[in-house]
Parts: sequence; C-alpha cells; structure tokens
Amino acid sequence: MRTRNTLISLGLVALVLSAGACSFRGDRNVPRASASTSGFPMVCGNPDLRGEVVGGVPGGITGCGIDNAVRLHEVNGVQLSTGAVIDCPTARAFGTWVDRGMMRAVGSQGGGVETIRIAASYACRTRNHQPGARISEHGRGKAIDVSGYTLRDGTQVTLLKDWGSGRNGRALKQMHRAACGPFGTVLGPESDRFHRDHFHFDTARHRGGPYCR
Ligand SMILES: [Zn+2]
Repeated sequence: MRTRNTLISLGLVALVLSAGACSFRGDRNVPRASASTSGFPMVCGNPDLRGEVVGGVPGGITGCGIDNAVRLHEVNGVQLSTGAVIDCPTARAFGTWVDRGMMRAVGSQGGGVETIRIAASYACRTRNHQPGARISEHGRGKAIDVSGYTLRDGTQVTLLKDWGSGRNGRALKQMHRAACGPFGTVLGPESDRFHRDHFHFDTARHRGGPYCR
C-alpha cells in the first residue's frame, strides 16, 4: 500500500512538472535570463552566461594558466558547440558580442542562431602555434575562436565558406565589426593567413585602443 501511494505521488509530481514545463515553454513573456536551454547554472554572476565553474587552471609553461576559469556552454540561450574554457571578463565580452553582434546580425533568419561553433578556447601555446613566439592569449584564458554558427533551420554558416559573399557573408562582416570594442583584439579572415577560417577574439587591452583586422 505504501509503495502504491509512493507511486501515485511520484506520478503526480511528474504530471505537475511536465505541465509546468509546457506552460514555461509556451510563455513568451518569460524573462530571457530564465530561458536556459542547456540546464547549466549561470556563471560569472550573469544569468545570460551558463556553464561550469572550473577554478584555477595551472599552466604547463610559464605565462600560461587561468586563476578563475569557467567552462562556458551557453549564451543567451544559444549553445556553444563545445564548452569554452575562459576567464569571466572574456565570458562577459563574449556574451556582449553574441547579444549585440551575432544575434543582431542574424536576426530571425533561419529561426535565429542555435549553435555557435567554437574552434578554440584555453590552450597553453604560443601565438599562431609558431615556435619561439610569445604566449598566446589562449594560454591565459583570455581568447576564444569562432569558426561559424548553425541556424535553427539547420543552415550551417562558416567563415571559410561564407566570408565575403551573400547574406551570410554580410552578417559575418557585421558581427566581426561588432566584436571590436567588447574585445581588445579581433582578427578575421582578412587579417592574415592564420585566420582564414575563424574569428579570434581576446580581451587583451592595447594602449592604442582595440586592434581589429
Ligand atoms: Zn585565437
């Protein structure tokens, strides 16, 4: 009898939960901050940023490592193809760019952005993998690389294929421009041969203002 009662109450809980989920999904007035699609908790004190707290990341060589890292999985309800290990100032800059740059440039095309393709985040390495070069901002958790995005209708936009042509090319140019400011360094396909297929964004600050190419 006790088991049966437990089963009944479990069933009721499931019913209430699923009903709640339905009304939640259908309610367009739900504040955007609550509309997490990944289920990860907020990080960096910003409800638009969802992921995991990583904490200290020891560097393999001098100059590498992060004091307080997060693994970012979602921004404004948009998924990242892979969790990006970065520090909070970089996560916040990325959040600003997704909101004001990427989402604005794409608008409602294809139902909006579903997934952002992350090409790189934390990596203890030199700039452009060149031997003897300085430690990359990737080695400090201050950089994130984006190679494209997928729309809700399944359309895949990549820098390699779409940069410089058509509607998607224009959207990519617009979001490249919008990154300049939130990020201190912005490199795209026209900067050099290392960035033909991705945007490099980092939060290093330069004395002369943002460096964007
Ligand atoms: Zn990079």
